[in-house]
Amino acid sequence: MTAQLYAFTCGFLTIPRAFMLDGEPGFITVPVPSYLVVHPKGRVLFDSGLHAATLEDPAGYVGEMLARYHTFHFHPGEEIAARLVSIGVSPDEIDIVINSHLHFDHCGGNAQLPNADILIQSRELDHARAVESSRGYLLSDWDTGQRVRAIEGEYDVFGDGAVVCLPTYGHTPGHQSLRVRTESGGEFVLCGDACYLRDSLEQMRTPGVIADKEAALAVFHRLREMQARGVKIMYGHDPEFWKSVPQAPVRLG
Ligand SMILES: [Zn+2]
Repeated sequence: MTAQLYAFTCGFLTIPRAFMLDGEPGFITVPVPSYLVVHPKGRVLFDSGLHAATLEDPAGYVGEMLARYHTFHFHPGEEIAARLVSIGVSPDEIDIVINSHLHFDHCGGNAQLPNADILIQSRELDHARAVESSRGYLLSDWDTGQRVRAIEGEYDVFGDGAVVCLPTYGHTPGHQSLRVRTESGGEFVLCGDACYLRDSLEQMRTPGVIADKEAALAVFHRLREMQARGVKIMYGHDPEFWKSVPQAPVRLG
């Protein structure tokens, strides 16, 4: 079985470059991606971007600490619900949201997807519950009332190998990526923040903000092995790479 894969850029953030590549000076403006996976058994969203409240008042929503290090470039029409509507998909038709992790730029749109189950690694959920609204996490992003399905490690979403959650712990304690076998474009790995940039993987350079550096490097090795087998790696926040990513309704595969 295969699935159809679509990508959206849901706004941009300007952040210190060292967040992405440890030790680098200056700032970098990065895309905030989200993906739609259409499988015969359901519609899946991988990551949901920023919370709609940040369209108007980002500092008011994320708080002073996060606002100090993140400049928001996020405009009406770029939030995930509007992006879905723009390609003819109603947000209430999304069956499952898979969050790579629960940082504010990956699950802020969950609230806009009322009928979706939320699929998350149980150790990420435990961590998010423990830190509450601190360290990049905001309870109001992910504690939004949908059914939460906590999973452990690798998880085949539809039981046919087309859409598989891969544990890629390191960036956060329970980070996951998604492998998608597509109808027409081969296999993709949607990295989330397991690998921010093409340079991260090519130079094996870890970010400045990281929960477990050894685990993150082990993930880089696994991504490289998959890349060598022809799997396409979708870097999580690479501005140059994302310029070449076709936006929905054009399909990635
Ligand atoms: Zn991120």
